[in-house]
Amino acid sequence: MIAAHDDTDTRDWIDLRSDTVTRPSAAMRTAMAAAEVGDDVYGDDPTVNALQARLARDLGFEAGLFLPSGTQSNLVALMAHCARGDEYIVGMDAHTYKYEGGGAAVLGSIQPQPIPQADDGTLPLDAVERAIKPVDPHFARTRLLCLEDTWHGRALPLDYLAQARALCDRRGLALHLDGARLYNAAVAGGISARDITRHFDSVSVCLSKGLGAPVGSVLVGSRALVDVARRWRKVTGGGMRQAGLLAAACLHALDHNVARLAEDHARARRLAEALRALPQVSGVEQHTNMVFASVAPEALARLRERAQAARVRLSIGDTPRLRMVLHLDVTDAALPRIVDVFA
Ligand SMILES: *Cc1c(COP(=O)(O)O)cnc(C)c1O
Repeated sequence: MIAAHDDTDTRDWIDLRSDTVTRPSAAMRTAMAAAEVGDDVYGDDPTVNALQARLARDLGFEAGLFLPSGTQSNLVALMAHCARGDEYIVGMDAHTYKYEGGGAAVLGSIQPQPIPQADDGTLPLDAVERAIKPVDPHFARTRLLCLEDTWHGRALPLDYLAQARALCDRRGLALHLDGARLYNAAVAGGISARDITRHFDSVSVCLSKGLGAPVGSVLVGSRALVDVARRWRKVTGGGMRQAGLLAAACLHALDHNVARLAEDHARARRLAEALRALPQVSGVEQHTNMVFASVAPEALARLRERAQAARVRLSIGDTPRLRMVLHLDVTDAALPRIVDVFA
């Protein structure tokens, strides 16, 4: 990872570390300034209520809950589905298992049962079924299957979602979606988000990634589930007061920044094509707004220098495999500068 940079003019940087780096636009800031607010812990914030109701309606659920982060949204969802000593089945490389500090186990006393994902991000359903524990005091009680869409940019196949739903119905499991990038999946597939979410009992969506809001995730589910999740939100310190300022940014993002995700996907495709033409780069893959590429291990130090000089911010770890994420602050004009770093 790269440490925070100290340049004062950050606008000149091309930041490909994540789609979380987007800055609220002038229009979004205007919407935030104009937001009607109230104390959301009392349920009084009309803008938060509007955001929750809108996503619940759009995605086909009874209720929604606004949260500070996707991590907390997934956490309270897991805690609402599972009690102490229960278990969720999850991908070994899933955000809800690997990248959330073990929160479900740490804070929820919920046991994860990780299984390896297939290359397309699906959890093979025969492996899921084998992981379900018999009802027996030796075992945790398997309650929930947790999927992620998109996963490393890959949109899960709709027929897979239907099969996962059928398995959960047959075996009495609930089904949660970490849909941090749900709208990337929907836009890439040319379908409505609801075509994806209709298979799930609960869905967490991030507004703070490619949709461009500064902060915010929404969990949607049944009224009963959201009531339990709201309690856990307060317990885990996520009850915010005049949060309508933030919810206004999220509503603005839903109004203006969903369809344009297609531009990020197209730009990612063009970046991947340009990188494929370079002999220094191998294994180029592109899925929705993400591009993956490898360079020779001995080239990493040089790549770091060139990126710094070109004011291109990359997540360069210890492995030669890189992930570049496109988003609304990366324009067409940025592409030649990015490609040149690798040339
Ligand atoms: C970003 C992300 C989250 C939530 O992250 P926060 O930074 O806590 O908002 C959850 N799942 C996936 C797949 C993500 O990419």
